[in-house]
Amino acid sequence: MQIYKVGGAVRDRLLGKPVTDIDWVVVGATTEEMLALGYRPVGADFPVFLHPKSGEEYALARTERKSGRGYGGFTFHASPEVTLEEDLIRRDLTINAMAEDNQQNLTDPYHGQRDLEDRILRHVSPAFAEDPLRVLRVARFAARYADLGFTVAPQTLELMRQLSESGELQALTAERSWKEISRALMEDQPQVFIQVLRDCDALRVLMPEVDALFGVPQPEVHHPEIDTGIHTLSVLEQSALHKQPLTVRWACLLHDLGKGLTPTEEWPRHIAHEHTGLKLIKAVNERFKAPKDCQELALLVGKYHTHGHRALELKASTLLELLQSFDVYRRPQRFEEFIVACEMDARGRKGLEQRSYPQADYLRGAAKAAREVAVQPLLEKGLKGPELGEALKRERLKALKVYKENA
Ligand code: ATP
Ligand code: MG
Repeated sequence: MQIYKVGGAVRDRLLGKPVTDIDWVVVGATTEEMLALGYRPVGADFPVFLHPKSGEEYALARTERKSGRGYGGFTFHASPEVTLEEDLIRRDLTINAMAEDNQQNLTDPYHGQRDLEDRILRHVSPAFAEDPLRVLRVARFAARYADLGFTVAPQTLELMRQLSESGELQALTAERSWKEISRALMEDQPQVFIQVLRDCDALRVLMPEVDALFGVPQPEVHHPEIDTGIHTLSVLEQSALHKQPLTVRWACLLHDLGKGLTPTEEWPRHIAHEHTGLKLIKAVNERFKAPKDCQELALLVGKYHTHGHRALELKASTLLELLQSFDVYRRPQRFEEFIVACEMDARGRKGLEQRSYPQADYLRGAAKAAREVAVQPLLEKGLKGPELGEALKRERLKALKVYKENA
């Protein structure tokens, strides 16, 4: 048997990027031989094994054929006769379809190295169109390598468009899609992921609520970029520049969905978009079964981001309601994530990227003031149950009034 390094490890070594996980392909071996060598089988789907010591993935060389809709509709064929070239041709991009042996001799039948040098993301063969997940993968690689100047080859983008139009994208499970989406959002340029999905019309299929924001104007005084879609991309870009966690990036992507529902007569204003957007945010959350913390933050940021921007003008009672809505006493971190999402929203505007955002520290101070109200003295007065709750609220309101006066 021969063993080769494949995929990301080869690509990233050639790019001079750190290699995190290594995938291996084994040519000329049977399952029985692998088991006899102590490799542990994983998953029922493919002949993939874990190395007994390193735990890295070793897959028998295989060919694949499409046999139905969606990912389940794949049949594969693994046998000792399958060659390295045959295994590599089933892969998504040429830059991911290179292999190297333990002497670093490169096997590159589909010219991945040339495409690496030319900074091109190109499909390996027309079989690319057999798995719709590749649309998301290519967009994710475009986001990851945008800083190096990579772009998607026009023919590949065309195949991605065909996949989007064929209805195959809808066949993806929420789990497979979310895995790609969440990884893409954590790249340095997540806005490129959304832009590429839009370029091949996949955004209209996957997140029509986000796609609908393009072409929707906003008032130029607050939004020099005018277009709500462009604004959304910029907010996402800011969230990555400021190294925000996934929860915040997800909330940034979805915060303005309500603007896509504004009747055109009302443009460029978007009265109450915070409320109209909530059902759309909920729909996108559920479509991809986003984790609970992402879902919650997206809904809260959607609902309250204008409160964040107007923080300094809010009455003490409104500030209190805001803090209560976030349950800031038990969930201080979530409120902090709300604050930074608002800041990203404020900076994700043309020419305003460097603006100061005094609202952030003001809100932090308000949260601190409310959280510092001690419960003990109220308990000592013998208060309990709803009475205690009311008294606590009154004390917090007092504290916020004092905070406002001194701020
Ligand atoms: P990463 O750095 O994100 O791990 P990677 O290229 O190693 O990048 P993996 O998901 O680990 O990505 O997959 C390993 C290899 O398997 C890829 O390089 C590619 O050759 C192939 N591959 C993975 N998923 C697909 C797919 N859906 N369609 C075609 N080939 C795929
Ligand atoms: Mg990998």
